[in-house]
Amino acid sequence: MIKIALGDLRHSTGGKHSVFMPLGIGFIASYALSQLGSKNVEIRLYDDPGVIIKDIKSWKPTIVGLSNYCWNSELSRLVFRHAKKVNPGVVCVAGGPDFPTDHAECEAYLLKRPEIDFYVYFEGEFSFAALVKKIHRGDKIHQLKGAPQDGAMSIHPETGNLVFGEPLPRLMNMDEIPSPYLTGLMDQWFNGCYAPMIETARGCPFTCGYCFIGQSWFCPVGTFSVQRMKDELTYIAQRMRKYPDVLLSICDSNFGMYERDEEIGKHIGKLQDEFGWPNSFDVTTGKANYDRILRMAAILKNKMYVICSVQSLNPKTLEVIKRRNPSMDEYQRINAEIKKRGMVSSTEAIVPLPEETRESFFKGLRMVSNIIGVDRVIPYTTMLLRGTCLASKEYREKYQMQTKYRLLPRQFGEYLGEKCFEVEEVCVATKTMPFNDYLEVRGFSLVSNFFSTEQFDIIHRHLKELGVSKYDFIYHLWELIKSGKTPLSDIYSRYIEETKEELRDSEESIRDYFKEQENYNKLVSGEMGDNLIRKYTTKLLLEKCVPSIDLAYATIERMANKTITKDARESLAAARRWAVASRNISAVLRDDSYIKISENLKLPYDVNAWYREGYNSNPLITHNKPTVYRFYCDVENLKKIFIEIKNLYGGDFYFQIGKLLTTSSIEEFWRQCEVLK
Ligand code: SF4
Repeated sequence: MIKIALGDLRHSTGGKHSVFMPLGIGFIASYALSQLGSKNVEIRLYDDPGVIIKDIKSWKPTIVGLSNYCWNSELSRLVFRHAKKVNPGVVCVAGGPDFPTDHAECEAYLLKRPEIDFYVYFEGEFSFAALVKKIHRGDKIHQLKGAPQDGAMSIHPETGNLVFGEPLPRLMNMDEIPSPYLTGLMDQWFNGCYAPMIETARGCPFTCGYCFIGQSWFCPVGTFSVQRMKDELTYIAQRMRKYPDVLLSICDSNFGMYERDEEIGKHIGKLQDEFGWPNSFDVTTGKANYDRILRMAAILKNKMYVICSVQSLNPKTLEVIKRRNPSMDEYQRINAEIKKRGMVSSTEAIVPLPEETRESFFKGLRMVSNIIGVDRVIPYTTMLLRGTCLASKEYREKYQMQTKYRLLPRQFGEYLGEKCFEVEEVCVATKTMPFNDYLEVRGFSLVSNFFSTEQFDIIHRHLKELGVSKYDFIYHLWELIKSGKTPLSDIYSRYIEETKEELRDSEESIRDYFKEQENYNKLVSGEMGDNLIRKYTTKLLLEKCVPSIDLAYATIERMANKTITKDARESLAAARRWAVASRNISAVLRDDSYIKISENLKLPYDVNAWYREGYNSNPLITHNKPTVYRFYCDVENLKKIFIEIKNLYGGDFYFQIGKLLTTSSIEEFWRQCEVLK
């Protein structure tokens, strides 16, 4: 009997970064079991580093297989080293995307990590099972390492050279992998602390240069049968009905793009009716066939966000990164449809990318905001992921990409007396975008991100009515905030400082810095090491909620000054009071007594009626009817949410709220508004 410990390990010292059930190791396990049989192999699955560390000592597995993502590869190394120390004969197998593609780099990677015996690259199910079969029949490890193994790489024990096994063909009929859900392998995670993850298709027809999946090898898309997906989803929903607010993750690269997805979507819609789950999704929707994706969103009660990502709108950049965006007309149409359904329209941008300039970046933002009408742009700093063409020597040199290193947000911990940190390489300047321009873009991104949240949807309505461009409004706010003259400016300055401070010249300098106990404590307390846009957006929301509403109203009045009438000014003042009474999230989240009390408010305009009528309502000034409201919190619902987010994300309040804001509606925290007369 071969004992195998498979882990997809997560740091949790700074809050749980990933709440998803470890589906990848579930697939590896279910396929290996189907090939070897449970009489010959016993497999245990882990996500908690503490548990696998203990089991390696007590259970003594023959093989330890760990996933390698950018957020856990150092943790996996630490556990491999521990396994080798406990039993030098253990076979350590790594797999996952955090691995180079260039063979010289693969060799250097493995030579630096002697604790890894085999690296199973690309899809792991077949290669891992083939390796286990050989170990089971008694092949010696040093012989296996010295001869090419399909889909795996190793270092030759004698020569120290890379031994490269040819890649296996892509797995097209994915039903060959038995379901880890239906075989009960994932049952241990149905406790409300994890979100189920499914994969309906693997691969991507696109070739984006910054993405690991963009490699041509992943081009053909393998699929699980629709029936298999339906069976899995029913099994999952039956167990998740107790946790209606826990999301479903669909880890496809382009969910909703294919005809078959619609049938899967319809099935999920039925489960929503029958089991009251899922009510929120973590999903990357497709980059084509938007009509179908929008139909699916409707089937899923518009709880699946449709994000039409652009990454850049600079044609030269798009050419370099081999990305194709929808045409402007198509994009406009998609966006209009998203908004018609009352959903927030978002897009993502990566900065700095090759050939992007400060001007081209802002021009692109102006275009998506003013012409397309997108509500929210989510900016990301360019990560140089192993194996991508953006990380290649050629790209780095050609586009003079200057890179730095930073801790992956909250990805650290202390195990076996050793501090462990996950570090990422990011690009912070290029031939066309100097570092200072990058900082400017980052600054704008925070302001844009904050004022584009649903918290300010009422402001967006005013902008529309008064004919003020949303992009100009945010740009104006940004200039005010960075001038240092607003109540939000201190937090903004601190954000810019931390954006600079988090960057170091090497991985080692990050590790050396945080190994110092004083600095490590700052990570544990959350003072350092978080995703800065999330951290500071949450900070603004929790600490400057009312001042930010006031600033937004003052800015609108100033910008619309020439055209605004006395009545419109009065109606805005009423709306500001309504917004403060209903959306003081700082008080709802931080003041226990506030959620228990109600507040009556008399306003000269029926702001509530205007707001409820939605984007196509008559102007606010036409609602000039004195109205009395009562504002109150749904205390029971709030308590339920607080418990669920604590289960999912751990005890750090700022982190919980920051994560929640990326997956759920902020509306849950607004006070209810009852019209009294
Ligand atoms: S579409 Fe998405 S998954 Fe596909 S290559 Fe581009 S970024 Fe990667």
